[in-house]
Amino acid sequence: MKKSSTKPSVDLILHDIGELLTLSGSSTMPAKFPTYETLGVLKTEDLCVAASSSEIVFVGRRSDLNESYSTTRALDIDCRSQLVMPGFVDSHTHTVFAGSREGELSAKLSGMSYLEILKSGGGILKTVRETNLASEEELLFQTKGRLKRMTGNGTTTVEVKSGYALSVSGEIRLLEVLAKLRAEYGYDIVPTILSAHAIPQEYIGKAVAYVSEVVIPSINVAAERKLAKFCDVFLEEGVFGYRDSESILSHAARVGLSTKIHADEFSDQHGAELGAKLGVVSADHLGRSSLEGIAALSRSGAVAVLLPGTLFSSFVGTYAKARQFIDLGLPVAIATDLSPNSWIESMQFVISLACYGMRITVEEAIVAATINGAHALSRAKDVGSIETGKRANILICNVENYKQVPYRIGSSVVEKVIRDGRLSVENA
Ligand SMILES: [Zn+2]
Repeated sequence: MKKSSTKPSVDLILHDIGELLTLSGSSTMPAKFPTYETLGVLKTEDLCVAASSSEIVFVGRRSDLNESYSTTRALDIDCRSQLVMPGFVDSHTHTVFAGSREGELSAKLSGMSYLEILKSGGGILKTVRETNLASEEELLFQTKGRLKRMTGNGTTTVEVKSGYALSVSGEIRLLEVLAKLRAEYGYDIVPTILSAHAIPQEYIGKAVAYVSEVVIPSINVAAERKLAKFCDVFLEEGVFGYRDSESILSHAARVGLSTKIHADEFSDQHGAELGAKLGVVSADHLGRSSLEGIAALSRSGAVAVLLPGTLFSSFVGTYAKARQFIDLGLPVAIATDLSPNSWIESMQFVISLACYGMRITVEEAIVAATINGAHALSRAKDVGSIETGKRANILICNVENYKQVPYRIGSSVVEKVIRDGRLSVENA
């Protein structure tokens, strides 16, 4: 038998796991037809997961762990026969902004649509005013608060888009705030530049000038300074048209950014077809896409990021046809779309909505919130599942099985959050 000093050591052990969702085996390709098997459920007796620094190094029986690793200096967490699963990957948010828009709930209740609120100077444009007036310190403080609560609800990787400044320096300032939150507070943020989020008031009627004077230059700075990984565009009636969206995303790809698209959220603008044509990593929303568009997307290799919380909070009354998308072989991820329009900090709530609203299965919803979300961010090699070699981003839940996750509505099942191999949140 080897001497213990020759064994590599682990510094975190989660033991006495009741049910472990590994989601293993889907890191190379997103899961198109998720089933119970895709969840990689383990219920072995004496089950544990161990991490060394920020990486998962062992999944299996505790007795086998002791054979191969020194465990003397490890933090031991007793999971008390409960559910353990990967941290949620929230692959579409607008988390960096200042202020709030709770007044719009009353406007929506009186019958105003999202686009009518935007046209009357509210919506995104109100948030742009509040964001541009906020100091960098205030912006950082407000954004950090949201990230902290999202982490408490189990989100361990989050995509965040700029888009509430709509000037070159303002959009870059938002990305700088995200870089600071990553570097100083360790949040796993995937930054996206979305200067094509709305036309600011000073450019109304001059969309072409806004694209050439603000959108393109801000993309250039973001790419040059490596402040963004993705570029996104809001293709929608009254916002950015098909041609503008195509030229913006093509330019972004030329300067080295990966691409995403807000496609067919409220009306069919052939966004799904454009996403397929441009080879975007993800096409998001797709609430009004045609079946031809969806078929084109599924052939292109893109992930569909569906955001049922936005449609829920916009009183649209219908959801993206997730069931059809999955049947057509289009891999589906789900995300919060956290913004002042739909202030949702909980991926568990979105999982519930995906089941109760879009009527996808519990297994499909959990895959969509973890490994497929990681694929939507080109991050599936290091997050989204519990496998050796991956980042130790893990949730310990206060329920016995995964079917409880969507079933519990409006309260969190997340008891502890492990982020990068360290106990980051203890809710109980
Ligand atoms: Zn969005």
